[in-house]
Amino acid sequence: MRSVEAAPGSVASLFDERGRFLGRAFYSDRSQISVRMVTNEDVPVDRAFLRKRLLSAAEFRKRVVKDSEVFRLIYGEADGIPSLIVDRYGDYLVMQNLCQSVERLKPVLVELLVELFEPVGILERNDPKVRLLEGLEQRVSVLHGSVPEEVVASEGGIQFIYDLHRGQKTGAFLDQRENHAAAAEYASGEILDCFSYHGGFALSAAARATRVEAVDLSAAAVTAARRNQRLNGIENVTFREANSFNVLKQYDEEDRRFDAVILDPPAFAKNRDSIPAAQRGYKEINLRALKILRPGGYLVTCSCSHHLSEALFLQIVAEAAIDARRNVVVVERRTQSRDHPILLTVPETHYLKCLILRVL
Ligand code: SAH
Repeated sequence: MRSVEAAPGSVASLFDERGRFLGRAFYSDRSQISVRMVTNEDVPVDRAFLRKRLLSAAEFRKRVVKDSEVFRLIYGEADGIPSLIVDRYGDYLVMQNLCQSVERLKPVLVELLVELFEPVGILERNDPKVRLLEGLEQRVSVLHGSVPEEVVASEGGIQFIYDLHRGQKTGAFLDQRENHAAAAEYASGEILDCFSYHGGFALSAAARATRVEAVDLSAAAVTAARRNQRLNGIENVTFREANSFNVLKQYDEEDRRFDAVILDPPAFAKNRDSIPAAQRGYKEINLRALKILRPGGYLVTCSCSHHLSEALFLQIVAEAAIDARRNVVVVERRTQSRDHPILLTVPETHYLKCLILRVL
């Protein structure tokens, strides 16, 4: 940028070197991302403008969200309001304002969310670390109405207890919602769900399975998953606290067999430098998982690393299949749920990969 005449957090007009208007953008004086494009048109980014974008986002959700009281209503750039996240959990909304401008627009955004969606409460989950890069403080507070410690809402016919104040992200991994339902279609017999968090995959698959074993390293996640299980009266799932790497290794060595294995680890590649180590991690768990599958069994394997492309993920899993001496077909190549849209021109927004594979 040649010159800046804009206040931090303002909506600035952008001009090229010859003074031609390029559009309007959110301006940040702290972040490496100093401008975030909002519109190419010479129009004010005011209440009416934001109202239109919120309504358009909601309209799209009506089309693509089925059978769920829980979904992402606004997904930043992909809904034309960069750095704004709004998730719906039944009667409640959770908001994240991740740049200076959407922080400054918070009062009008809250007003609009109340007017358009009539939530019982709105919580700001403004505790992500990226806020610090914007010079914004981390905080969690109720912005409208009231938000209880726990909210119960249903996702694909299963009730979940959400801790909006403290749960990961805004309370759940909403990006996996459609994959929970997709994976359940292939469920049968004995299933192993590694990295199970609150039981999204395990509980969705339970109805079609004989038995599901689910493991997570976090004691809190296991406790939450068990409560979700009881709430739904599901009996054939066992959640336990364990390291998935160890469990997979042990079952491989003991020749235990499963009809389906689900792998949904946290992002192993947090940045470009960690790609090689991440590759080894993904290879290890996918290799073990393929080895413990019965013939005809399914592997549901995910990677949510932004820095690892789908092509590379497919290659890693292919190498695992070769090493495991398994013939594998790709049944589905999936991604994040449609309420987390991918921007065509920003490949990094395609961050979640979910492959459904079948071992011959
Ligand atoms: N499958 C879940 C989301 C999983 S998020 C869903 O669809 O909702 C990743 C989970 O992996 C977290 O709950 C984290 O506690 C867990 N985790 C991280 N490292 C682990 C490990 N080595 N073994 C088992 N669980 C682990």
